[in-house]
Amino acid sequence: MPHPDSPSPDVLIVGAGPCGLTLAIELGRRGIATWVVDTKTGTAFNPQANATQARTMELFRRLGFAHEIRQLGLPPTHPTDIAYFTRVFQHELARLRLPTASQAAQVARVSQGSWQTPELPHRVSQKYVEATLLRHAQALPNVRILFEHELLALEAHDTHVVATLQDHTQAQGGRYTHHIPFLVGADGAHSRVRKTLGIAWEGETGVKREFMGGKTLAVYLRCPTFYQQLPHDPAWMYVSFNPQRRAFWVTVNGQDEFAMHAALHDHEDASNWGPAHAAQLVTEVLGVALDVEVLSMRTWIAGHALTAQRMQHGRVLLAGDAAHLFTPTGGLGYNTAVEDAVNLGWKLASTLKGHAGPELLASYEQERLPVAQRNTGFARGFAQNIGTFAADPCIEADSPQGQHARSLAGTHLQQHVEREFNIPGVTFGSRYNNSPVICPDGTQAPPDLPNAYEPTACPGGRPPHFWLADGQSLYDRFGFNWTLLHTPGHKEQAGHMAAVGESLGIEIVAVALDEPAFETLYQAPMALIRPDHMVAWRGGSAQQAAQVWQRCLGLTAGVG
Ligand SMILES: Cc1cc2nc3c(=O)[nH]c(=O)nc-3n(C[C@H](O)[C@H](O)[C@H](O)COP(=O)(O)OP(=O)(O)OC[C@H]3O[C@@H](n4cnc5c(N)ncnc54)[C@H](O)[C@@H]3O)c2cc1C
Repeated sequence: MPHPDSPSPDVLIVGAGPCGLTLAIELGRRGIATWVVDTKTGTAFNPQANATQARTMELFRRLGFAHEIRQLGLPPTHPTDIAYFTRVFQHELARLRLPTASQAAQVARVSQGSWQTPELPHRVSQKYVEATLLRHAQALPNVRILFEHELLALEAHDTHVVATLQDHTQAQGGRYTHHIPFLVGADGAHSRVRKTLGIAWEGETGVKREFMGGKTLAVYLRCPTFYQQLPHDPAWMYVSFNPQRRAFWVTVNGQDEFAMHAALHDHEDASNWGPAHAAQLVTEVLGVALDVEVLSMRTWIAGHALTAQRMQHGRVLLAGDAAHLFTPTGGLGYNTAVEDAVNLGWKLASTLKGHAGPELLASYEQERLPVAQRNTGFARGFAQNIGTFAADPCIEADSPQGQHARSLAGTHLQQHVEREFNIPGVTFGSRYNNSPVICPDGTQAPPDLPNAYEPTACPGGRPPHFWLADGQSLYDRFGFNWTLLHTPGHKEQAGHMAAVGESLGIEIVAVALDEPAFETLYQAPMALIRPDHMVAWRGGSAQQAAQVWQRCLGLTAGVG
């Protein structure tokens, strides 16, 4: 624990999960004094989330470590398929084949349409991602990560927040009070920050489904003979579909570690179960008895689609699972949490540095709450589609009826796997259409569809990506803060636009693009990209530069 008399930080983040750690990096890189407190002794031991979506990989690329994340988890040549079976070692029903980590970069070079990105999704357990985030956060001189520190209480005032922290590292325990300008509750589903502020959940919970709705047993285990015995092509995720036990089984390290999540029946209470019981469920899910070593097990509840009523209460902000709770179908919880952090980081930094008006910070909730509602809604739809589809009682039978049942299930599951796991629209299509800090230009974005994404520079969305003639990713030319893309013919106008921004104290990189793809995809000779890689404005004249910047920085209503 820092000495109680040591200066308090500018921002106190409660929770060192993926959300809190990403936010710490965003703030630390902008010179903001940041503390992160977490009751745990370190980053997650359990695998937790399993998928890093393409947009999250783009955001990690922006921070300079997507390539490190890409090397984590499975060996580079391990398939990342999602496959469905009656039981993992029995009949295969459906499969979506996906590139390995070593193929991802090459595939991204030639992907067109919905998948125009430098970073395809990566299948990796959250535990590995967290360790990388921690390393990058700890390397920043302005960031202090304080494990075994608990936020006990907070008081929100107009001018500051009072936080009471308990240091659990000391034998006698130390309790300290700090006065801080801003506090962020990235403290997960049971957020004390949210509860203290009296912010309730809204949405749907307690939904019962055969799968992805109700009590679920998570088992993290070692199974050294899995690959030697597996009678199918290896996959990243194996889904077991039979009337006895619905479950998914995910490869953690591509060698001997796995995570199994098995639906429990109403009459089953796993609170007193031990490793032998877990091993019995493994046998049900695999359809064969293999030696397993249980590393951890716990019960969790699937079936939430919840968002907090608010994500801001004056100087206290909520982010990640503290603000939205998903059913893990589609793998969106941690990814939405990282996007929250990236949206919030530059806004908090601009506010603390005096470059922004109050509308900028207020736009965090205005932008992110609708995205949280959108994403929990997509996840709910996926859960409904897979969780209410029941297995025919004779699906495992060695008979013509059994074969017929498997064929019908295979058709549904093949459609489902595309629907849940080929989701460029979900990952790239979040938009801030009604944001007060975006300059609308009268155009409309294409429809918001989960499985298709049409690149558009209509302000309020992700900037379209293309590969430059020299082979570089367009995104690698973006600055860490603001970026102004322009055609060579608009150099002067762009210079004026940038100069006005600089006069307001912000950092901006102007990028001249003599590439036909730029005008085709952006439909304008200039486009202003925010620090969180969203299009803030596009146009052909810098005449209204002052109004554009004022709006984008929340200084006045500006243009639009
Ligand atoms: C089975 C399963 C599979 C999943 N799969 C996916 C997936 O594939 N893709 C995906 O995107 N998401 C997935 N998720 C969800 C994902 O794990 C979470 O959304 C993610 O961890 C949220 O990150 P966070 O940083 O907001 O919160 P957390 O990771 O929950 O971190 C919160 C931290 O706050 C700390 N804390 C809490 N209270 C205090 C306090 N008072 N003082 C100090 N510290 C405190 C906690 O110790 C914790 O470390 C899955 C979840 C489950 C259960």
